[in-house]
Amino acid sequence: MFENSIVAHLMVSLRAVKMGTGIHLTYGETELALDAGVSGLTTLLSHAHADHIGGLERAKHVISTEATYDALVARGSKLPASNSFVKYDETIGQIGAYITTLNAGHVIGSAMFKIEFDDGLTVLYTGDFNVIDSIVHSAAKPVSADVLITEATYGTPQWEFPNRTEVHGEIVKRAARLIEIGKIPIFQAYSLGKAQEAIGLLNRAGIQVVSGNPAIDSVSDVYNLHGSDLSFVSIESPDAKTSLKNGCAIVSSSPKYTMTNVKRALGASYQKDLSRRMERYNLSGWTLGEFKNNGFPLSAHTDFPNLISFAESVDPKLVYCFTSNASTLSRHLSDRGINAVPIE
Ligand SMILES: [Zn+2]
Repeated sequence: MFENSIVAHLMVSLRAVKMGTGIHLTYGETELALDAGVSGLTTLLSHAHADHIGGLERAKHVISTEATYDALVARGSKLPASNSFVKYDETIGQIGAYITTLNAGHVIGSAMFKIEFDDGLTVLYTGDFNVIDSIVHSAAKPVSADVLITEATYGTPQWEFPNRTEVHGEIVKRAARLIEIGKIPIFQAYSLGKAQEAIGLLNRAGIQVVSGNPAIDSVSDVYNLHGSDLSFVSIESPDAKTSLKNGCAIVSSSPKYTMTNVKRALGASYQKDLSRRMERYNLSGWTLGEFKNNGFPLSAHTDFPNLISFAESVDPKLVYCFTSNASTLSRHLSDRGINAVPIE
């Protein structure tokens, strides 16, 4: 009963409301925007993906890691008028709450934020997060909090990803076999995050990589600026032809655009020949579903079993779920005795 009254009190006193690409959080006198720009408010920005950066130019101030800001610049995103940087595991206390930035394991610079209000109430906001080590990101770790605001992208029981190391092994094996027989594997991956994991993976296996889009080049440069050692040849570079001739894999966020570039740089007949030699694969968690035969399930998000165990480790009194499967994840958490509601 006591526990229930705490939850009821929390649901009234702490407001988490969907706003644009993010959430408007209010507790007492303190108001914050999470992953959305709201005029007059400070925004905590978890990472630079397009579905988390709406209206940043309107924000009073934006707090993010330096790598997230560099990724915004590299992608040509609209930039905030005022901003400051935070580091992982650093705590700042300047806007009516103490805010600790934690690694989210999703893309370069991605952060979770633990917010501690004056009366001691703690809120953990995950942004998008991944609890499994990837080639270029380390796993997000749970910390305890009274309230958890979690993504629910893969928040239904059907999404259980296979062992990542085994998926890596399958990708490398397929690439090597195709190159051996004169074909060119082309791996389609988001230009921020997944493309760099693919490049890093192929580099480690000694496979030469051609980056198929300038968007991948510029984001990969940000990774290298922040400590990665990614090696690739841009499709726009004169060296691309040599790599394609000698055998390589292409990593592309848009194969159509890549082929347009090939045509422009190397000619129409070369493009035709390349099209015949190419085999295309998606690198995405969604390949477990509709694209089952056409790719590898490599995700930058947390799968269903790990969303549940992450929430259990945080041990919150209340969970807010956001993104597409928020209702389903909330139901499953509630079934396990964790009070959870979707943000709608
Ligand atoms: Zn994301």
